[in-house]
Amino acid sequence: MKVAVVGGGPCGFYFARLLKRSRPEVDVELFERGPEGATWGFGVGLGGRTMKEIEDTDRPVYQAMIASMRFTRTQIIHLDGEAFTLEYGAAAGAISRLRLLEILAFACRDVGVKLHFGTPVDSAAQLDGYDLIVASDGASSRLRQEREAEFGTKRRILRNRFAWYGVGRPMEPMALIFRSFEGGTFVAHYYAYSDSMSTFVAECDEATWYKFGLDRMTDEARKAVMERVFATELDGAPLVANHSIWRQFPAVTNAHFYSGNVVLLGDSQRVAHFSIGSGTRLAMEDAAALHQAFQQCGSDVAAALARFEEIRRPGRDTFGEAARRSFEWYEDVARHMRQPLMPFIHEFLTRTGRISDERLRTYAPSFYDAYHGRRQGEPVA
Ligand SMILES: Cc1cc2nc3c(=O)[nH]c(=O)nc-3n(C[C@H](O)[C@H](O)[C@H](O)COP(=O)(O)OP(=O)(O)OC[C@H]3O[C@@H](n4cnc5c(N)ncnc54)[C@H](O)[C@@H]3O)c2cc1C
Repeated sequence: MKVAVVGGGPCGFYFARLLKRSRPEVDVELFERGPEGATWGFGVGLGGRTMKEIEDTDRPVYQAMIASMRFTRTQIIHLDGEAFTLEYGAAAGAISRLRLLEILAFACRDVGVKLHFGTPVDSAAQLDGYDLIVASDGASSRLRQEREAEFGTKRRILRNRFAWYGVGRPMEPMALIFRSFEGGTFVAHYYAYSDSMSTFVAECDEATWYKFGLDRMTDEARKAVMERVFATELDGAPLVANHSIWRQFPAVTNAHFYSGNVVLLGDSQRVAHFSIGSGTRLAMEDAAALHQAFQQCGSDVAAALARFEEIRRPGRDTFGEAARRSFEWYEDVARHMRQPLMPFIHEFLTRTGRISDERLRTYAPSFYDAYHGRRQGEPVA
């Protein structure tokens, strides 16, 4: 069997690695348009459950990742001058996106995947002769675009604007800042992902975008505005840019997971909104599920792709709905910010429908106790 994986993001590398490791006789090639050792973005968050799944599936990759991750349980949520510190029940981990890709590229080479960097693939027609084509080429997938009718692609462009920056020091504890500033509404989400770097995602609503004239500014000038809005948190540190283009989020979904021998994996299948911090996790879970399907169906590509969709659709649908509820909440963030701090945080934590008030007791115990007016540790009933 000959397999072409297009896109060296988390899911492309991970699927290539898993397949080649378990089926050395399969010819697995990965085509990445960018050069090796470069990528967009900064650090990404990966929860404990995700890491457990990676540990169960691929221990060497897990060990390399763990050694490069930073964990925390604490997050401060700020709302216009007031703040509450949450202690989560489980620790959240973060890793540099570049480091994660280095680990996965190494793991691919280690098992014999042929890696072709600086090699864009813009059409499945370029890959004649491959039995399986994996479209792991991200949110703007070219392979998906050439078959949108077959995949049943739907696209909604959100109104809020955002950019992904870094900061050259560990900003701890991690925080979410909701700030009304000179008549505008701004949000920042930051966390440390190494001893020397933090991720810093900045966002504003559409009214703010035009009110501040951000639509007419360069990205450099927009960065300067964010440095002014979040001056207290940055404390003199500049925002670091890495392809940090201000944009609107494309909420892309596809009715079908595959068409012929082309399968959509990760963001090309469904772009997970960054506010649920799960896109990398979902992409890697897709990779593990596609691998599992091939374990079960051998080299029968049609059967494996049908099995992949069967395994993955329920989880993807659940997370897709959670992501939709989350971005709808952010699209209306100025209205939500009119509440007092504690109901605001409660609404924020339960916005996706995945965390019920009951689940908050274990998910965010310090907040649950404070919100329900109890001292920590005091019996609930
Ligand atoms: C601001 C922001 C913050 C985020 N924070 C988090 C977070 O905290 N936690 C988390 O889990 N997720 C986060 N995500 C989401 C996460 O980055 C994505 O969901 C994840 O990268 C998807 O992985 P992927 O492998 O599907 O695609 P990608 O990582 O996008 O990789 C696709 C690859 O394909 C390559 N490619 C594209 N076109 C071609 C072509 N024609 N030929 C060859 N190669 C091509 C690209 O160069 C790229 O390397 C965030 C996203 C954003 C925007």
